[in-house]
Amino acid sequence: MENKTITLILDEDTINKMISFYTDNAVENKNEYVLNQFKLEKVTITIYTSKKVVFQGENASYEASIWDNSLLETETTKEKETKKDNKSDWKYHKDHIGSDEVGTGDYFGPLCVCASYVKASDLPFLEELGVDDSKKLNDEKIKKIAPRILAKIPYSQVSLDPKKYNALIKQGYNQAKIKAMLHNQVIHNLREKLNKRAVLTIMDQFLSEARYYEYVKFSPYIEGQIKFETKAESKYPAVAVASIIARYSFLTKMDKLSNEIGKDIPKGAGKEVDEFAKELVNEYGIDKLNDIAKVHFANTKKIEEE
Ligand code: MG
Repeated sequence: MENKTITLILDEDTINKMISFYTDNAVENKNEYVLNQFKLEKVTITIYTSKKVVFQGENASYEASIWDNSLLETETTKEKETKKDNKSDWKYHKDHIGSDEVGTGDYFGPLCVCASYVKASDLPFLEELGVDDSKKLNDEKIKKIAPRILAKIPYSQVSLDPKKYNALIKQGYNQAKIKAMLHNQVIHNLREKLNKRAVLTIMDQFLSEARYYEYVKFSPYIEGQIKFETKAESKYPAVAVASIIARYSFLTKMDKLSNEIGKDIPKGAGKEVDEFAKELVNEYGIDKLNDIAKVHFANTKKIEEE
């Protein structure tokens, strides 16, 4: 494959975002003119003290386009035309926070909850990425656009791996309580990070408001002033973004688990999942489920009964 090199000059703010974005991929570089270097699977990124940033490797164009929107591949005319037909249903166009979660109906994998802060000025960027049309957002599309969103939009995200999730269920929590506590946590973290409290905050509703506050009442901080709304991801861009980030995190973790096992782990909780769980138990024993599955789901009983 082609070994491309792309050089950008970026501002300090973007460089700081890059440094935290790629922190897990940092490698040592002793060159005194190099501020940071990151090695990803198909691209090496070098940030120089002069603010010059060099992307080198097969994925250079893609990775560079995350940081410089002018490099974004423009959509084909056909894609644009289809988009016109499904004009955004967003009913809120001002600055706001939104939260949503992913993984609640998936037997395997973590529970991921995210809150994001979208400003009115971010809307054209999000529309350009197709965030306004959730029908088009399959997993492949999410993997493609999420890195760009992560680089631009402030957010707070937690993902609870199955082991910790199962431990909480064992302690007597139900899933709604776990979700409530994580929503409370990400909204708190994001509000702290933004140092902004008086921003409209929308939660994609999964239980009554009264029950929600009942569940979070023993948290060290209780975030109030939240608007609860169902199907909020199609009305509020920040909820849509939170859902995409949570999904991206879920998919990344599922890919990692699949790599460890050497097989693609199915999503959801249907027949395919039952089959897969059976094979898994045959190979690794029943205890393996506690590490990678939400064991209170009915799927576990079905396996134990066999
Ligand atoms: Mg939701």
